[in-house]
Formats: sequence, structure tokens, C-alpha cells
Amino acid sequence: MQLSDEDFRNYTVLKKGFEGEQKSDKWLEGLSEGWLVLHDLLLEHNHSKFQIDTLLISQDKIYPLDVKNFEGDYYVEDDKWLTCTKRETKNPVHQLGRCELLFRSLLHDLGYHFPLESYLIFINPEFHLYITSINPSLVFHSQLNRFLKKLNTRPVNLNKKHYKLAEQLVALHIVESPYPHLPNYHYEGLKKGPLCPNCDCFFTDCMGGILVCGNCGCTEGVESAVLRSVTELLLLFPDQKITTKLVHDWCRIIKSEKTIRRILGRNYKLNRNGRSSYYSKY
Ligand SMILES: [Zn+2]
Repeated sequence: MQLSDEDFRNYTVLKKGFEGEQKSDKWLEGLSEGWLVLHDLLLEHNHSKFQIDTLLISQDKIYPLDVKNFEGDYYVEDDKWLTCTKRETKNPVHQLGRCELLFRSLLHDLGYHFPLESYLIFINPEFHLYITSINPSLVFHSQLNRFLKKLNTRPVNLNKKHYKLAEQLVALHIVESPYPHLPNYHYEGLKKGPLCPNCDCFFTDCMGGILVCGNCGCTEGVESAVLRSVTELLLLFPDQKITTKLVHDWCRIIKSEKTIRRILGRNYKLNRNGRSSYYSKY
């Protein structure tokens, strides 16, 4: 469907954040054994919520990391972070400071006195920040390897106290719906057809049981494409009853209803009820 400008902006931000997390997970694979690593903690202290992307616990120090996937050129002016088109983003150094303050106070209340060292990790190699001063809490892409090497020299003989802290933090983690701002959508408003698993474009051709993507040239068997499409349909419309007619409409490019019926019959349980028969998972 066509997203509104606001939804599209929101989508782009979420996608970028997700890609950043993936890159950071990959980077952290280089961390030596023994560290305690907690991801995506949402905590509350003194009625203020704060998020820690990655928390590294070593023997004598705790490192909250805020991972940013910024891309392009940025500069700082009067404490404001601006892109070259002068669009302002939230100052991540302020965010980091706020987070550290709240987290330190929370740790203190829990009875821990580990020193904290917070860092802003800029994970995207296409990011550049024009600054004139050195801020040791900023780690740029070209410094990631050295930063990791430095971490790997830290002692990591963890004991019960460290594990207890980790357990307490996980227990304090606030679970929020991952879809708070899902845009409104309805079946009629959505473009239909199986999507290429490689590039997410709609398949353009269906020949002899094989679907072909006109965008990247990728091909896929009809059965696996139909099954993926049904999974997507159920994700979007969890209460929808799966019928041959519906899936045939949803997978528009596949002309034969018989093919759809055969695939559903092979992979789902048929609940017979005359005209309102439907398929469900085994
Ligand atoms: Zn494709």
C-alpha cells in the first residue's frame, strides 16, 4: 500500500534502526568470551523510561552502548546535530548522558557500584561527523576494531554478583508492543501478489510452476511462494479464515485455483464445512 509521508518516515527510521542492530550484533561477535551482553533493555527509573541498546558487563566496569546507524554528513552547531540539509536530529550525546544518569541511579538503588562507561557507537561506514573537538564517548566506524580490541583487554572473570545484576535488569525490562504505530490497513487497500524473497518486489511472471522476478531475475517454485504468502496474509490478518478463494486472490499472479487448492491441501488442515470450509495449521 501507499504509506502516508509520516508512516513512511517512521518506517525508514525503524528499518534503519533494525539494520544498525544487525550490524552491531555482527561486530560484537568479535568480543572475547566471558562478557555478559544484554540487548534492547527498556527500563524505568524515577518515572522516566530509558533504553539501552547494548549493555556489556565486564568484571569491574559496565558499558552501556547506544548504537546509531546514521548515514551521510552531519555537523554540530550550538550543541545541535544537523545534516547537511540542515535537518536537526536529537542530539545523541544528550540522550546518552540522560541514559547514563538514570542507569547509574538505578544501579545505585539496586545496591551496585560498578563504574559506568557509556559510548555512542556509529556503526555505519557511510557516516561522517564534522566536529572540532574530541569526545572520547563517540566511537566512529573507523575506530570500531580498535575499540573492540581495547574491550577485549578488560578482565571478565564474572561472578554471582554480575549474573544477579543481569537477571535483575532483565526482570525490570519493560515489554512494550513492538507495533505501537502500525498504520491503518485493510485488505482491499493492499496490492496483491507473492513477493520476491530476494528483493521484495512483486513477481512478474508465472511459467510452468515457477515464478520469476522481473526486477532481480530471482525465481521460486509456486508452492513455496504460496506458502510464504499465506504466512504474510496471516501476519497481516490473524483472524482471517484461509480459503482457496482468498489465497487465490491474494496470490493474484497464479491463475489456477486448482493449484492453490492442491498446495493448501498438502500443507494445511482442511476444516470441512460446506461453502464455508477453511484451512488451518496442523
Ligand atoms: Zn527480485
